Amino acid sequence: MNKHKRKLAIIGNGMGTCRLLDELVRRDATSRFEITVFGEERGGAYNRILLGKVLAGEAPDSIVTKTPEWYDSHGIRLTHGTRVVRLDTLRKQIETADGQSRPYDLAIFATGSQPLVPPLEGMHGEDGELRPGVFVYRTIADCMRMRTYARAGDGAVVLGGGLLGLESAKVLSDMGLHVTVVQSGKILMNAQLDEIGGEMLSRQIERSGIFTRLGRTVEAIYGEERVTGVVLDDGTTLSANLVVLACGVRPRVDTARASGLPVNKGILVNDTLATEVSGVYAFGECAEHRGKTYGIVAPVWEQATVLADVLCATKPQTRYRGSKLYTRLKVAGVEVAAMGTLEPELESDQVVQIVEERRDSYRKLIIRNDRLVGAMLVGNTSATATLVQLFDRGDKIPEDPLELLCQLRGVIPAGERIVCNCHKVSEGALCAAIAAGADSTAALSEATRAGTGCGSCKGELAQLIATQPKKANNPLQLVAVG
Ligand SMILES: Cc1cc2nc3c(=O)[nH]c(=O)nc-3n(C[C@H](O)[C@H](O)[C@H](O)COP(=O)(O)OP(=O)(O)OC[C@H]3O[C@@H](n4cnc5c(N)ncnc54)[C@H](O)[C@@H]3O)c2cc1C
Repeated sequence: MNKHKRKLAIIGNGMGTCRLLDELVRRDATSRFEITVFGEERGGAYNRILLGKVLAGEAPDSIVTKTPEWYDSHGIRLTHGTRVVRLDTLRKQIETADGQSRPYDLAIFATGSQPLVPPLEGMHGEDGELRPGVFVYRTIADCMRMRTYARAGDGAVVLGGGLLGLESAKVLSDMGLHVTVVQSGKILMNAQLDEIGGEMLSRQIERSGIFTRLGRTVEAIYGEERVTGVVLDDGTTLSANLVVLACGVRPRVDTARASGLPVNKGILVNDTLATEVSGVYAFGECAEHRGKTYGIVAPVWEQATVLADVLCATKPQTRYRGSKLYTRLKVAGVEVAAMGTLEPELESDQVVQIVEERRDSYRKLIIRNDRLVGAMLVGNTSATATLVQLFDRGDKIPEDPLELLCQLRGVIPAGERIVCNCHKVSEGALCAAIAAGADSTAALSEATRAGTGCGSCKGELAQLIATQPKKANNPLQLVAVG
């Protein structure tokens, strides 16, 4: 490698880094930087959002987004299976857990989050590790361990009724375990849903064979060596051979703290994603920007783009000003989307709700000054892309807000509607790719990147492929058929 290039070290090789590398490569950053990525996990980068597939039995390779060969072929050094323990910010050296020390000019923290482990009686074994049978759900290694341990017919208790809790509950239930989700809040997914939405989701989850204990907490985990059950705060016990901890995450700041960087909840960064220490940046779930940390991937990717612009000076004025949050997920088979506020906050806020009990569908909009400030969809999420776009841009909504839910076409100009929110791919771009020959979801994803983030738009991609005019590959054949 060229010794005149500046040494850029990235700590962490997760979803944020994966996107940052794409953005850097697109800006030809390897011609001016010697890039080294330090990843504690073994192997290349993967799509963490798809971990449920690995838990369900798919090969870990199926969710890998960058193999180690990718780094080689782009002139990027990947040091995987190596944890960075500290940055010596005076001598500009990176120190790794295996005792090595490497120089850097610029360093970026992208260390993500770690699962919360509540201080419960019986949580740890004598060796200080989680008691056998207790698992967190964050990495491929976690999934492989859990999958090897789980046996059909066993009992499982999941602590936490948010996205990760419900996702792991569904996979374990499909594997034949008897699963109970214990949630301290009165409703499932209380960060995204109100009471009606939460109840509707609960009913569907219970119908799929997963039990829920809402408004309850786990007080202790018991068993001789391995877990055999848990005690709830009302004194009842649930027998379980497997316990999944899905009660939240917190930014991973251990290495930043050891390096003397200013840390609050996360590593403190300004609008250029720079920390207070010269030449050191942070982004993704480990970073705290204007008092906020994030736990979903869209803001992490927005930060990655800004950081690439800042580092490469492609748009020197670019700043990160924070992200508007929205989520669209399939939770245990139920479609859920949410954005903005859950409840009206001002007296003048207008609320529109459609509850269809028989169809298990609930849609709610919160409108302020003719603009969408919140929306929640359970069951029928077909309006999500349009709503996200109006919410994101702060556009004026139609006079009759019901049009937003019932008459999607025309609200956003044809072609401009964003279908893949992760990669901001519009319907127009997708139709153009289909017309140019992308005739399967895989081909469409390859051509546009749509569907390669959270994957929740794949249904819409398939629909577009089915309805849009295709490229006529062989006109002679068409004539013959006609
Ligand atoms: C099971 C699951 C499902 C999810 N589903 C969704 C979803 O549907 N939609 C959504 O938007 N988001 C979802 N998320 C969240 C999403 O995965 C995260 O927002 C995203 O991964 C954050 O990216 P990141 O780069 O900040 O952190 P990560 O992807 O966590 O990457 C951080 C990496 O840094 C490594 N690291 C940490 N410290 C060090 C060190 N000192 N030295 C070297 N390496 C280090 C870690 O091992 C890790 O590999 C899900 C997460 C999980 C776990």
